[in-house]
This record gives sequence, C-alpha cells and structure tokens, in this order.
Amino acid sequence: MGRERPVIERTAVALEPRIRAQAYGLGFDLVGITNLGPVDTVAAFDDWLAHGYAGEMQYMSRWAAERRDSRLPFPGATSAIVVGMNYGGAEPPGPVARYARGDDYHDIMRDRLRELHRWIEEQAGHTVHGRPYVDTGPVLERDLARRAGLGWFGKNTTLINPALGSFFFIGSLFVEMDLTPDAPFEADRCGTCTRCLDACPTQALPEPHVLDATRCISYLTIELRGDIPAELREPMGELVYGCDICQEVCPWNVRFATELSEGSPFAPREVIAGKDARTVARDLLAISQDEFTAAFRRSPMKRAKPRGLKRNAAVVLGNIGMPEDVDILTHALGATDLLVREHAACALERIVPTEALKALRGH
Ligand code: SF4
Ligand code: SF4
Repeated sequence: MGRERPVIERTAVALEPRIRAQAYGLGFDLVGITNLGPVDTVAAFDDWLAHGYAGEMQYMSRWAAERRDSRLPFPGATSAIVVGMNYGGAEPPGPVARYARGDDYHDIMRDRLRELHRWIEEQAGHTVHGRPYVDTGPVLERDLARRAGLGWFGKNTTLINPALGSFFFIGSLFVEMDLTPDAPFEADRCGTCTRCLDACPTQALPEPHVLDATRCISYLTIELRGDIPAELREPMGELVYGCDICQEVCPWNVRFATELSEGSPFAPREVIAGKDARTVARDLLAISQDEFTAAFRRSPMKRAKPRGLKRNAAVVLGNIGMPEDVDILTHALGATDLLVREHAACALERIVPTEALKALRGH
C-alpha cells in the first residue's frame, strides 16, 4: 500500500512561486521545478558506460533502473525542486579547481534543501515526504536540471545557464507533491563554438557532449586511485586537484561567471588560498596525516586522501619543479606508499639530469 498523498492547501498565491522565493532566500542562485519520470538522456548515458568512459567509477553503473527513471530513487515522489548554487567562476584560476577550494558543497546544499523541505511542510501544515539529493543518490541531476529549465548541456558536458554560465553546483529536493513544473530548457546555445573541445589538454572530449573521464584531469586527480597514466602527466600541467579549463574558455562563463560573494563557504581555505601551484604541490607532498585531517576537514579535497594528493603533487612538480624541489621529491622516495614513491621518482627523472639522478639513487 502506498502512502496517502497529502493535499496541499493553496493560498491566494500559488505555492510554486513561494517555493522559488524561499529557495532564493536560502542562498540558492537558480531554482526550477520539474516532474519526475523517465530520464531523457538514458541512451547517451548507456552509451557512455558501454564505451568505458566512466573508468573506475563503478558506482555509475549501479542502481541503473533508478537512474533511468527519476520516480524510482524515492518512491512516491512526483516532483523535484532543482537548485543551482554559484561557486565563483570568475575567481582566478589556480592549481585547485574552484569547486573544491572551500567547504564541501554536499553538506551545505543538503542542509539548505532540508531547510526548504521544513518550510514546505510548515506551509502545508502537515508532513510532506521528501529527500534532498546532492550527488548523493542514483539521480542524473544534470538531466533533472535541464528538465527544470535551468540550462542546456554544453559540448563540454556541463549544464550551462544563460545568465550564470556553468560554475554552479546542482542539487534537488524530491517531494511527494504534485507541483506545476517549469518548462524544460530546449535550446542548445553552443552554436558552432568548439572552444572547450579545442582547449582540453588531454583530449578528454572526443566529440561534443561526450566526456572520456579516463582522460579527464578531474577524474585523474580525484577519482582515480592508482597510477596516473604516464602520457597524461605532462598535460596535467599545474593542476593539482580538478580542472576548470573547458569551463574557463566557455564564452558563457567569460561573459556571465561571477565572483564569490562576501563570506561564501566556497572561498579558498588557508591551506591553498593565494598560493601558486608549486607551493601547493610542495606543501601537499610534505603534509602529515594529522595536518591533512586538520587542513581538509569538511573539504571536498579530502576525497583524494593524502596518497592521492601527494601523487598529484609529485606529477605537478615533475611538470613545473625546479632544482630546489629535488629535496622534497627525494624525501618522498621514502614514502610508505608505493604510489607516492613511483610518482616522485618519475617527477625527479623529469627535473634532474640523468647522471645526477643516478648519483642521488646511489647507482
Ligand atoms: S575538465 Fe579539463 S581535462 Fe576534463 S574535459 Fe574539461 S578541460 Fe579536459
Ligand atoms: S565552450 Fe563553446 S562549445 Fe563548449 S560548452 Fe561553451 S559554448 Fe558550448
């Protein structure tokens, strides 16, 4: 037996615009409403998985039925309020992708969506079953956001909003309520532009709208647990964690991306704020477990764990390191983790002449 569907009292002002106003008041920058049902991009998603473009992200192929039909992740829900939250695309580029420089967006957005949920229940005067999702369930959120009118899929695969660009997080609140949906975003405003495809340093966009995650620097520096493929280390350049290049070059971001507002939780934390790539890489390579725990509490960067960050840092020093970095890389040759040792050795080979390296190793 399903739960009895609640009836929402309608006041003179419809609930939908009041939900939108409340969501903006909670600090979201974009809000749209959609109904739930079969997902529009299922075929493209299946293709993407079949090509192996998801790499080691095996979780993407789990809960396949739920990803195909958005009514399934939270049975009973028929509508979703989809929100976007700006994370400062106009902030300067750096070795850490903008989304990861501050506090973890999952926690922040989920808390605010819960607050929105409580407010809806207050308005209704009774329980409204619902659940927030912020990358936390088998939901293709980008699909949902397009359906809720928030933007179109760029050729770089991000969702682009015509007034904000693409530097925003997406979250949603599934509710057991029949809300009037917004119109889906039908237009594709990329036109003939191919800037993102041309700019990708690892050719991770083999064709428009398709991301080969196994070549993408965001995947390599965050999701991949093992070795970074040798041929992709040099193209990583100065990027220690994540990559914003295909968004930075997008004309919609050049024109519409904004800076962070005062006091934003996404402002860079001390461990990386204002530091260049070489300094960040050196600091990470030397960081202890305790220092890591303190510096990256509630940060998205803790996902890569110290070994992943040290691996990335070694690659970056291999790309931009100087003779002064030999000491720190040599010290990393003694790390307990083979992954770190191997990437440090490879970096040394790139910045130290072969003869000197042999002397360093004692043979
Ligand atoms: S995030 Fe970077 S590596 Fe990945 S597709 Fe975009 S430009 Fe390429
Ligand atoms: S860079 Fe051009 S092609 Fe790529 S997403 Fe932006 S508008 Fe579309």
